[in-house]
Amino acid sequence: MAEVEVTDLSKGYPTPAAPLEVLKGVDLSLSRGESLAVVGPSGSGKSTLLSILGALDEPTSGAVRIDGVDPFTLDERALARFRAEKIGFVFQEHYLLPQCSVLENVLVPLLADGQATGADADRARELLGRVGLGERLTHRPAELSGGERQRAAVARALIRGPLLVLADEPTGNLDASTADAIADLLLELQREANTILVAVTHSAEFAARMGRQTRLVEGRLVESSAAATP
Ligand code: ADP
Ligand code: MG
Repeated sequence: MAEVEVTDLSKGYPTPAAPLEVLKGVDLSLSRGESLAVVGPSGSGKSTLLSILGALDEPTSGAVRIDGVDPFTLDERALARFRAEKIGFVFQEHYLLPQCSVLENVLVPLLADGQATGADADRARELLGRVGLGERLTHRPAELSGGERQRAAVARALIRGPLLVLADEPTGNLDASTADAIADLLLELQREANTILVAVTHSAEFAARMGRQTRLVEGRLVESSAAATP
């Protein structure tokens, strides 16, 4: 079975009138080593889909299995642990803690298990070197460029070696060449670690470089055929 299995997923938000049906029967299967682009107009439900894949938000109906587990059957503590271990998030905004150094920010996801150890710090330094921030360990986020902040956010997402990396418009705030560099980095690291990368993007170039391309259309996820994407 694929590591990520989504079956007939629907999501509606309550409104004073009828519920707003955002996702209406999404099916998706992803195995280790795959990368998937999700495109679609603003308001089509891309972020909603990612937050359900990341077990941050519950679907109205349908099934989600990640590594064989339905995260929505877990209690709050187990769900938090599951999310921390299996899923890495990169958003359009970096959400780095402004008062913490780059190195400390990357260690934050490990604090869920208690204190970060010296070995954790070594791994964080190594990963920061890998994303090109080896010389920026003690910088605060405000002392970094936009691209560097997003590199730090990528390192933070990967520090626990997640199975699934979810990126919601990760290059949306960056200039074109910086965006390309972040896209390169996400794809390289996805291949190196043999993870699953799901990225929402408005960039046709970034989408085309992912292994699979999908579009959210009227609440459904429509996959482009390989032949349609050069
Ligand atoms: P996208 O990321 O594709 O721009 P979203 O998933 O953020 O779209 O939102 C899809 C639709 O759902 C939008 O119309 C949005 O207004 C609505 N929506 C998103 N989150 C909520 C919420 N928490 N409550 C009510 N409506 C929401
Ligand atoms: Mg969005």
